Amino acid sequence: MHEYSIVQALLESCEREARKADAKKVTLIKVKVGRLSNIEPALLSSAFEFFSQDSFCNGAKLEIVKQNVVIECANCGAKTELAELDFCCPNCASEDIKLIDGEDILLMSLVIE
Ligand SMILES: [Zn+2]
Repeated sequence: MHEYSIVQALLESCEREARKADAKKVTLIKVKVGRLSNIEPALLSSAFEFFSQDSFCNGAKLEIVKQNVVIECANCGAKTELAELDFCCPNCASEDIKLIDGEDILLMSLVIE
């Protein structure tokens, strides 16, 4: 499943970061999940609980922040946060827009001990 491979990649990068900082354990992992990422936060949480048990991140808590879609307009420069993806700028109605956030999952912060 999609969420399983995401969690495994997430655990690996957390472990790498934690070891780099000489941590004994990871207590909190905060991730940002874009609304367009097709990631189901509930599935992500349960996959995390399952896989983290046998990892360096055992016992860590996963905090998921949902990220709305953010677009930037090439015409007027407005940045707009949207609950749903809209392919034109709400400010000037230009369709020349760039998606700048809300697409991926991103590791935001790590609390270690
Ligand atoms: Zn615009």
